[in-house]
Amino acid sequence: MVRSRVYNFSAGPSALPEAVLAQAAAELMDWRGSGMSVMEISHRSAAFLQVAQQAEADLRELLAVPANYRVLFLQGGASLQFAAVPLNLANADSTVAYVNTGLWSEKAIAEARRYARVSVVADAQASGYRHVPAQAQWQIPSDARYLHYTSNETIGGVEFPFIPSVGDLPLVTDMSSHILSRPLEVSRFGLIYAGAQKNAGPAGITLVLVREDLLGRARAQTPLVMNYQHQAAEGSMLNTPATYSWYLSGLVFQWLKAQGGLAAIAKVNDHKARLLYDYLDAQAFYRNEVARADRSAMNVVFTVPDVRLEPVFVSEAAEAGLMHLKGHKRVGGLRASLYNAMPLAGVQALIVFMRDFATRHG
Ligand SMILES: *Cc1c(COP(=O)(O)O)cnc(C)c1O
Repeated sequence: MVRSRVYNFSAGPSALPEAVLAQAAAELMDWRGSGMSVMEISHRSAAFLQVAQQAEADLRELLAVPANYRVLFLQGGASLQFAAVPLNLANADSTVAYVNTGLWSEKAIAEARRYARVSVVADAQASGYRHVPAQAQWQIPSDARYLHYTSNETIGGVEFPFIPSVGDLPLVTDMSSHILSRPLEVSRFGLIYAGAQKNAGPAGITLVLVREDLLGRARAQTPLVMNYQHQAAEGSMLNTPATYSWYLSGLVFQWLKAQGGLAAIAKVNDHKARLLYDYLDAQAFYRNEVARADRSAMNVVFTVPDVRLEPVFVSEAAEAGLMHLKGHKRVGGLRASLYNAMPLAGVQALIVFMRDFATRHG
């Protein structure tokens, strides 16, 4: 690690691999001998199209995306997809099914209610969003156009340990905070979307993987930039895309391939998460209340015995070079995000700090 760099546990925007930042820095003034930055060239230029196509090819390779899926690089974040999904896949009087497992599900549901009739088929709110409701209990209306769920709840630290089985019903998921953390069976889904700034790149790019048979269903008033069919036809360049974020995401994909791909990074991610959860389970000072099977490997939430210790923890950790451990403002507590770019050494350093902090304040 470069000595001035810290361990950054931010939930998003979050740490990027150092090798990616170093390459971006080296190429900033003079990209590939062009005498320009990649962010200064036309998105229609052959040079940029090559960047865009390479990023898509690498993403397809990493996730083994089947040929009948289109990959889009859009703007507006996951939050714009909360509206784009019902606009593209349902009409105002259609029923759409949602699973509510946390605050990001809530936001997706609230937005979808503006555009369709939402049926919440399973709801973990009453339990404080500490588990994933078993699928056997879900009541999916027979006329639903799709089922939406949030496969990793970034704020609550809850991750689905299974992919729901919904037969022919299109399965739609917000994978913002764990896409690319492990191999994925893309063919189980109709549509996957993810804001890049958690695990896939910088803010500004939203990845959308959409099965081709779901294109062409958008209602008439859907804004063109939100229309999957139009964006697919235009190669995500209906208007100017976020070129620099696209380029940087592409560098992240190449870094992931150099790490050995998603199976290899999943091993590292499992190791990191196991270290931290094993530590949490072996002591009594910190607590994590999420059902064990549903704990997120990416976002580890925990509390200290007295909320007044939270700011002390955060500032002492920062002094030790361990940054952004404050929980989300809506839920409080503490949170360590262990995305792909967080090295094992960062988690080890965090545990050393936590042990010392508990000794001093326990
Ligand atoms: C961060 C996050 C979002 C919001 O993403 P934006 O790109 O800021 O709109 C949505 N869903 C999940 C699961 C997230 O982690």
